Order: sequence, then C-alpha cells, then structure tokens
Amino acid sequence: MIMGVKDMGNNPVKIINQAKLSILQGDITRQTTDTIVNAANSSLMGGGGVDGAIHRAGGPAILEECIQIVSLQGRLPSGQAVITNAGNMKSKHVIHTVGPIWHGGKQGEADLLASAYRESLQLAAENNLSSISFPSISTGAYSYPLDEASRIALKTVASFLSATTSIKEVVFVLFDSRTFDAYTTALREITGDK
Ligand code: ADP
Repeated sequence: MIMGVKDMGNNPVKIINQAKLSILQGDITRQTTDTIVNAANSSLMGGGGVDGAIHRAGGPAILEECIQIVSLQGRLPSGQAVITNAGNMKSKHVIHTVGPIWHGGKQGEADLLASAYRESLQLAAENNLSSISFPSISTGAYSYPLDEASRIALKTVASFLSATTSIKEVVFVLFDSRTFDAYTTALREITGDK
C-alpha cells in the first residue's frame, strides 16, 4: 500500500507499508539518519562528487575502514555494498555502494543500479539500522540518464519497503534542483499521483 501525505516542509513524502519515503534537496553529509549511502567507486579510496564530500566531512576514519575492507575482500564490484563508520558526521554509518557506469543501457546497467539500492537496504536491515539516506547513485560522473535512474531508484526502494518492516525511513537527498525535480516526477509516476 502506498499513500500520499505532505510533510511540513512540502517535500514529497509517501508512506509505504510502515515506512516513510521522502525526497529533499540538500547535502547528504548533514543528514541524521542512522546511515547515509555513498555512491563510491570500486576502489573505495574516495573520489569526486558525493564520495569526496563524504570523506571530507567524515574525516580519515572512514578511509581507514575502507582500506581494511579492500585488503580483506578486494575491490567492491558494481551492485554490491559494504558498511563503515561515519567518522565526524552525525549519521553513525556509511554504506558504500558502487553503481554502474552508463555504457548505453545494454550492459546490465539497470539491474546493477537496482542491486546497488537493494544491497544497501539489505545491509542496513542486517545491521538493525532503521533510517537511511541515499544520494542519486550513478547520475553524476557515471552518467546514468536521470529520468531512468530516478525511476529505478524509487521503484527498487518502494518494492523493498513493501516486503520489509525493519526500515522505517528512507530519504533521497538530492544535491541540485534538476535531480530533485526528476525524482519528484518519478515518485508521482510510480505512485500514480497527478
Ligand atoms: P556517480 O559516480 O555514482 O555518478 P557522483 O558523486 O558523481 O556519483 O554523483 C551522484 C550524485 O550525487 C549527483 O547527483 C551529484 O550531484 C550528487 N552529489 C554530489 N555531492 C553531494 C552531496 N554532498 N550530497 C548529496 N548528493 C551529492
């Protein structure tokens, strides 16, 4: 069951099963959800975009844990996720996932993008974390078309929430107005609102 409601700030909000799914424009490093998600690359060594912002805001403790993870299990394949501390940020954890690089859409990109969201949610649930913030995975340096990526992101989260009750809150924290508008439109489409 998906119900539309409005919150105080007029950000789009939906209730799915027992969870709140919302969209806002902002900086994910400032979120207070139990965990935030990083759109990392396979090296887990930091980079540009949201990855750089998270490592800058969190400080060196995050990279230290990433280095340990890579030394134990190697590079993180696209579509998978791992969890670390969040250093100096308010959130307690960072879930690092790797979205697909867009190569035209015929190299499994849609499945890999859905997997990045699903594996992140699964990892949060396994760690008893009930609230999670996502950036728009793959739509920056990885060039995934925004309209398609936003639909996949929201559909994947909505279907996960329909089947699980441990996660109570999912927030999409979108950096720029173009991305915020695309997710707002996609949420309306998916939930059938005008
Ligand atoms: P990818 O390599 O997966 O495409 P990017 O970091 O290049 O990842 O871009 C993903 C999205 O994250 C883009 O929409 C970008 O504008 C956004 N972004 C950059 N910095 C932040 C931030 N501090 N908080 C939230 N989103 C951010």
